[in-house]
Amino acid sequence: MVDKPYGTLIGVRPGKLVDQLLEYGLSPKEIIHRLELERKVRRDRAELLTRVAINQRRITEPLQGRRNLTSLYISVPFCPSRCAYCSFASHSLTQYGEKEREAYFAGLIREIEFLRQQALTHGLKFTSVYIGGGTPTTLSAPQLSQLSWIIRDLPWWEGRREVTLEAGRPDTITAEKLAPFAPDARLCINPQSMHNETLAAIGRAHTVEQISESFALARDLGYRDINADLIVGLPGEGVSHVSQSLQSILAYRPEGVTLHMFSPKRASAYSKEAGWVPMGSAEALDASNIAHAMLSAVGMEPYYLYRQRGILGGLENIGFALPGHESLYNIMVINEQRLVLGAGAGASSKFVSSATPWEHQANPKDARVYLRRLPELMASKESLLDKWRNEP
Ligand code: SF4
Repeated sequence: MVDKPYGTLIGVRPGKLVDQLLEYGLSPKEIIHRLELERKVRRDRAELLTRVAINQRRITEPLQGRRNLTSLYISVPFCPSRCAYCSFASHSLTQYGEKEREAYFAGLIREIEFLRQQALTHGLKFTSVYIGGGTPTTLSAPQLSQLSWIIRDLPWWEGRREVTLEAGRPDTITAEKLAPFAPDARLCINPQSMHNETLAAIGRAHTVEQISESFALARDLGYRDINADLIVGLPGEGVSHVSQSLQSILAYRPEGVTLHMFSPKRASAYSKEAGWVPMGSAEALDASNIAHAMLSAVGMEPYYLYRQRGILGGLENIGFALPGHESLYNIMVINEQRLVLGAGAGASSKFVSSATPWEHQANPKDARVYLRRLPELMASKESLLDKWRNEP
């Protein structure tokens, strides 16, 4: 049971089944019972899944019946250095000179402008925009300012609107870069660990002190919605490291915390030969449960959850937030119940009808290939959007 907390639920999105059962009118108690009995899910995970699904329904309720509401993902695939566990589509700044990054930015703006026009043509309204990567704060302050104006100019829904800026690496954060999105954007500052030895070991070129400074800077600029990422099970870390890190993070009073379980990928620099011994399953479960209890104790609720192949302890990545600070974008991407558009290298667009994704268009991960193929990618999105409009 320790190794299989989700029993026979092997997919990335175990919450989908729970959402369906809620849709069929089952009570939370009945759902938990069925998950335990039929899917062999641990009781605490069955309860967690149900809690997440109920929270998501509450958050997405105002969007029901509005098929034209959509989200946009903007990809900035550059990072100051490569984290040892990373398998994302990100290029180190040493691989891409300033000129090339400028060319990439021009292409990215072109694609966002194109999607804005398409949204106007098809009557789409944006409800969330997520600027991720990579590390978007590797862009210059003037580029971030330009991006913020283009985002303001999108056709927005008159209801809930959310812009997230990932300022994941504290070593890229300056007041000039954060200012264009202050104070209304949701900001992600991602410590991953609050132990300098771990940060050095995993190739994050920043210190705990820089994390502190970044939080202080963001608060000074008026940001009221800050999310922090933490990874459970980083090499060399035990349960006490995780709880100490989380305690230090909670001292900054973030509005949300995402807990990732360390999940070694083939595409990352991680390897057993390098001497990294991941946490055992029982320890990972302990660390995760302690963290959940700490987050619940400060009033945060779990609101989105997904799993990955090879995830530590068979557990989950999970977002917690104070009420009203949940990321709508994260829910929409994990739920796969709505149209999501993507701009930039490695960005995905999902075309959904009747709550089922029928087409997934992924931009190439390599920034140079993306630029070369941009006209063809935009033409393909245009025809997919035409098709989407005519779907039920
Ligand atoms: S900051 Fe994120 S995207 Fe960049 S190398 Fe590290 S894990 Fe990968």
